[in-house]
Amino acid sequence: MFELANRLNKIPPYLFAELDRLKQEIQNKGVDVIDLGVGDPDMPTPKPIIEIAKEALEKKENHRYPTYKGTLSFRKAVGLWYKKRFNVRLDAETEILTLIGSKEGIAHLPLAFVNDGDVTLVPSPAYPVYAPATYFAGGIPYAMPLLEENDFLPVLDDMPENILKKTKIMFLNYPNNPTSACATKDFYKDVVSLAKTYNFMVASDNAYSELYFDNKKPISFLEIEGAKEIGVEFHSLSKTFNMTGWRIGFVVGNDEVIEGLGKVKTNIDSGVFQAVQEAGEKALNHEEEITPAIRDIYEERRNLVNEYLKKLGFSYKKPEATFYFWIKIDRDSASFAKFLLEKCGVVVTPGVGFGKEGEGYIRLSITQDKERLKEAMKRISNAL
Ligand SMILES: *Cc1c(COP(=O)(O)O)cnc(C)c1O
Repeated sequence: MFELANRLNKIPPYLFAELDRLKQEIQNKGVDVIDLGVGDPDMPTPKPIIEIAKEALEKKENHRYPTYKGTLSFRKAVGLWYKKRFNVRLDAETEILTLIGSKEGIAHLPLAFVNDGDVTLVPSPAYPVYAPATYFAGGIPYAMPLLEENDFLPVLDDMPENILKKTKIMFLNYPNNPTSACATKDFYKDVVSLAKTYNFMVASDNAYSELYFDNKKPISFLEIEGAKEIGVEFHSLSKTFNMTGWRIGFVVGNDEVIEGLGKVKTNIDSGVFQAVQEAGEKALNHEEEITPAIRDIYEERRNLVNEYLKKLGFSYKKPEATFYFWIKIDRDSASFAKFLLEKCGVVVTPGVGFGKEGEGYIRLSITQDKERLKEAMKRISNAL
């Protein structure tokens, strides 16, 4: 009776209905399924953050509508953390905006700057938000392939001139989901220069900046000279502090971009619950005491899974950041995922779900404890 709007028909079809059905069927048979498919931390939010939230919940001033931009004290905490972590100075009034999770801000950005027929540059494979957000705004996403031979960085010289002329936003995401690749300063320098030449904005998604290994800290796009003139960076408290369910993130950088996005948001949402912002402020102010323990756990898990995968002879790059292994396989990704589910009761994500260039890979998340990961790896070893 009700036909969906055309914009929804442009969204790529959901590819995993069959795998979801199969997972359910196998679980119903009583098989103990190990899910290494989701990008959602398995660990709870650290106690000190929860304690602050409990206190903040009791304050009656927090029960009212929050301010649109976020509380000034949360934005100031973001500014201090950015200075400490990346040595980037930000004005809390004009260059920082609180988001209902970074996904929310990313999804709304094209509504502020993309007109019908405008282009956005979207990595492939990618976190599946950039392209749908572009379609919703009437724009056309143009895929930038992320290939192993280029260290999963887009080749800027390959971008056609006529596309660059129509480009409004370039989306980038490093440390990258799903490939786990990190960006270099030189690459970002080339991005800044291209963006200035063609007058488009850069939206850097840095959700995994704190989930790094071997003490190799990923950089911020905004560390590059001139980056703030053309770009913004999205951050999330979700992965850094195991807070996916709380819905809080932020965007920082170019004041015109922030103002435009803010304009869209004041017409759509009414901000983040202030008790959650108080908890987020505490988290950021104590990041150096909280996050290392989380990082250490992932690093142990990464080392464990790496040992097994190496022995099995898989082809992949040992992740330097994120909680994903991006593993090359010699057949199509959906059938390999189906094989692992049927033979081992292990769920992984077929690479093709992240875009055409993800075909030939699977993504394995280390969002399970060491015992479960060991069990999954043993089952896979036995099946191969
Ligand atoms: C998890 C994730 C996010 C965002 O998360 P929020 O919970 O919305 O802050 C953003 N980008 C990438 C690439 C992610 O994997």
